Amino acid sequence: MDAVRRTRLRAADPAGVAEAARLLRAGQLVGLPTETVYGLAAHAFDADAVLAVFDAKERPRFDPLIVHVLGADALAQVVDERRLSPAARRQTEALTRLWPGPLTLVLPKAAEVPELVTSGLDTVAVRAPAHDAARAVLRALGAPFVAPSANRFGRISPTRAAHVVEELDGRVPLVLDGGASEHGVESTIVGVEEDGTLRLLRPGATPRGAVEDIAGARLEAPRARGPRRGPGMLASHYAPRIPLVLETGQRDGPVAWLLFGSPTRDDWARYGVPVAVERLGDDDRRAARELFAALRRLDDSGASWILAELPTSRGGLGPAIRDRLTRAAADRDPSMT
Ligand code: AMP
Ligand code: MG
Repeated sequence: MDAVRRTRLRAADPAGVAEAARLLRAGQLVGLPTETVYGLAAHAFDADAVLAVFDAKERPRFDPLIVHVLGADALAQVVDERRLSPAARRQTEALTRLWPGPLTLVLPKAAEVPELVTSGLDTVAVRAPAHDAARAVLRALGAPFVAPSANRFGRISPTRAAHVVEELDGRVPLVLDGGASEHGVESTIVGVEEDGTLRLLRPGATPRGAVEDIAGARLEAPRARGPRRGPGMLASHYAPRIPLVLETGQRDGPVAWLLFGSPTRDDWARYGVPVAVERLGDDDRRAARELFAALRRLDDSGASWILAELPTSRGGLGPAIRDRLTRAAADRDPSMT
């Protein structure tokens, strides 16, 4: 990793965008806003720059990255379209009607994409971001970029420019500030298989129902094993520094609460007085937007553990929120940190 002395924060205005594109062209990294969470961008065809992303995040090389393009017209830059069967092509055309937006497709990889990007898989994950600043950088760069969440591996994803600085200060020369992320959780990842079968590899900011409606097909579960095994199937992810415990778990020491509804009399009796409370409410879009920022505040609240409720909503963004909190609560495998 190139030594960067400090991280500069600047507005995602035209001058900021131009500087970001210049740095990316020169093989440097840039933190930038997308509509899901903040990303750590690098030129997708520059293997050294991609390597620097893994280093800056301390991300294991076996966890492949998502390539960002302007839209379906740019797919041929990163996808080997000759390897798309008619059924897979039909589904790809249907699904890319949700672009630009928080939907990632896993498709056959073009030879031009460095192996490091896909961790040696012969498929590539690709999406078209909707955020104006991310799109402006793509346009100015004239090439795709990779942009995993701009946090150290396993930690809480950043939804504000300041979070990126907290995570990566001194590891990235520039962060573009585009305000709070609109969705607050990562993209939904869908694998498009050769026979046109669609698999939900990660629940995310595009609700399952929206994908199924436009595809006219059900999303299947990921394969139990094999190279298409989905994302972040690493159990522990999105984790605060202090332990996070779901629902009725119990620990000693001062507690902080993450709630969707209101605390009940039973909660107060069972867990005692919390040092901090974040109430996300029952609108799942709003809850997703605030989720990671709220977790950061609880992490810094002085509590020694977080007790988190799970949202009850089964549709919309409920599954994405449940997925993130379940992983945040998972036991940390010491070999992964
Ligand atoms: P993120 O960390 O949000 O950038 O998302 C990257 C996730 O996309 C990783 O956890 C990967 O497992 C998943 N992913 C990327 N490429 C592929 C692929 N070729 N096949 C399956 N999942 C992928
Ligand atoms: Mg991430």
